[in-house]
Amino acid sequence: MQISIASGSGSGDDFQSVVVVFVSCQQGSIVTSTTPGSVPQVVIVGGGFGGLETARSFRKSNVQVTVVDRHNYHLFQPLLYQVATGGLSPANIATPLRSIFRRQANCEVLMAEVLDFDLDQKRLILADGTLSYDHLVVAAGATHSYFGHEDWAAFAPGLKTLQDATSIRRKVFLAFEAAERERDPMIREEMMTFVVVGGGPTGVELAGALSEIARHTIRNDFRHIHPEDARIIIVEAAEHVLAHYPAELSRRAADRIRNLGIEIYTQTRVTNITDEQVCLSSEDGEKVIRTQTVLWAAGVHGSPLGKKLAEACGRETDRAGRVEVTSGMNVEGQDDIFVIGDLANCTDGAGEKMPGLAPVAIQQAQYVAKRILANISGSVHQEPFTYHDRGTMATIGRAQAVVKVGKRESVGFIAWLMWLVVHLLQIVQFQSRLLILVQWTWNYLTFSRSARIITSDEKVILIRDNEASDELSTVNPDSENDARGGTNDEVAEE
Ligand SMILES: Cc1cc2nc3c(=O)[nH]c(=O)nc-3n(C[C@H](O)[C@H](O)[C@H](O)COP(=O)(O)OP(=O)(O)OC[C@H]3O[C@@H](n4cnc5c(N)ncnc54)[C@H](O)[C@@H]3O)c2cc1C
Repeated sequence: MQISIASGSGSGDDFQSVVVVFVSCQQGSIVTSTTPGSVPQVVIVGGGFGGLETARSFRKSNVQVTVVDRHNYHLFQPLLYQVATGGLSPANIATPLRSIFRRQANCEVLMAEVLDFDLDQKRLILADGTLSYDHLVVAAGATHSYFGHEDWAAFAPGLKTLQDATSIRRKVFLAFEAAERERDPMIREEMMTFVVVGGGPTGVELAGALSEIARHTIRNDFRHIHPEDARIIIVEAAEHVLAHYPAELSRRAADRIRNLGIEIYTQTRVTNITDEQVCLSSEDGEKVIRTQTVLWAAGVHGSPLGKKLAEACGRETDRAGRVEVTSGMNVEGQDDIFVIGDLANCTDGAGEKMPGLAPVAIQQAQYVAKRILANISGSVHQEPFTYHDRGTMATIGRAQAVVKVGKRESVGFIAWLMWLVVHLLQIVQFQSRLLILVQWTWNYLTFSRSARIITSDEKVILIRDNEASDELSTVNPDSENDARGGTNDEVAEE
């Protein structure tokens, strides 16, 4: 069966062309294409910062845009740590892509997993079909990197997706619940030890929020433990935490972090992680920290789609799994294929290597949209991509942040207010902005974190010692690596 849908589609008065979409159900595949002479098809892989901005940049152009994403929402990753620590709910930071593009008539959203690229046919291979393009923008982002130790992922979850955030939230709050019921002081101490691997912005933000939870939010909520005694440790391989800030600013930030009761181990490498401990190595020797909660904020690697694209183009990704692009953001030799954001290994016009930041992805998106329009109109757009750095910022705990804007540097409350305003303004939907503002104000005034619920269909093991009473412990027959680190065998013995 083949269904053809003919629709008038446009963005304002300047766009009256007819787009025909063929949906071929015969082999369960989706194929969209334009009729000959119709508007050019721009396909964007990824509805993150880069993909979203690319699509928006075409809102007044005579092109048909398709945004393909495996999720049906745009995720505001900079606030993921707030979901992971119960400050915000997942829906606060995720906006449905369809509602974002509701009013952009020349843009459609396709929820699909992109698997590969067929450059000869100019089409994407999806998990459930194919999708043709005239111009392709790949903004598939990045994922965690455990530096070749993928087995650590089971014990040290990273923070990249909403699922990651809710599973970290579960792990953190379960640790306190388990500690409340633990009778052995040594095991209780392990349960209340939290190790964050990576002292970049994400690691520092996570550790700061953990400190706030332990010292303020749940301080009076338990009867058998003192949450404020929780040990929170940041492990960083570099000389400083927040190493990409100037050394003096990093040092000042580190002082503030220590004032929150957080221990910082710099120039220290993780050599192993299990469900009960993390092993460290530094100039001072080896060290083992007994803990059941390790959070990974150390390394990122380009989306696996980057490798597929590089292979299809006869090229290789760099060590971080990113696709090398020219200063015009296209893959060398492929004038119609652009890679932007975290997946692009890009040096800008000033010779600077681009960091994995949202503003970089956004500015690259705007640049690439201009280049595609120039290609379509037959003109030549020769200017290389140049990044305008408007500053960087990160929170370091309750009402504290570090900010660098040009030559101005600031640590503390004013920096935090700046962080707050900038992040609020970047949230896509006005309604979410308002809700987050209300939530933050409430959290700030009451020290509360109302989203600290533990959600999961799995049953959990909170107690593993042999003396635990049967009616207190519940067992998950499918889970091998629980917050308590119990295994099926251990459970069977109990
Ligand atoms: C915890 C955290 C905190 C951060 N904090 C900050 C900050 O404070 N400031 C800042 O500037 N930056 C921050 N960043 C970095 C910033 O979020 C990224 O640089 C930015 O998201 C990159 O945008 P992107 O479009 O390249 O990728 P993303 O925003 O990651 O979007 C990629 C999209 O591609 C989709 N996708 C991937 N593979 C496929 C596939 N095969 N098929 C279909 N869809 C696919 C994904 O679902 C996703 O929607 C943070 C990142 C994280 C993880």
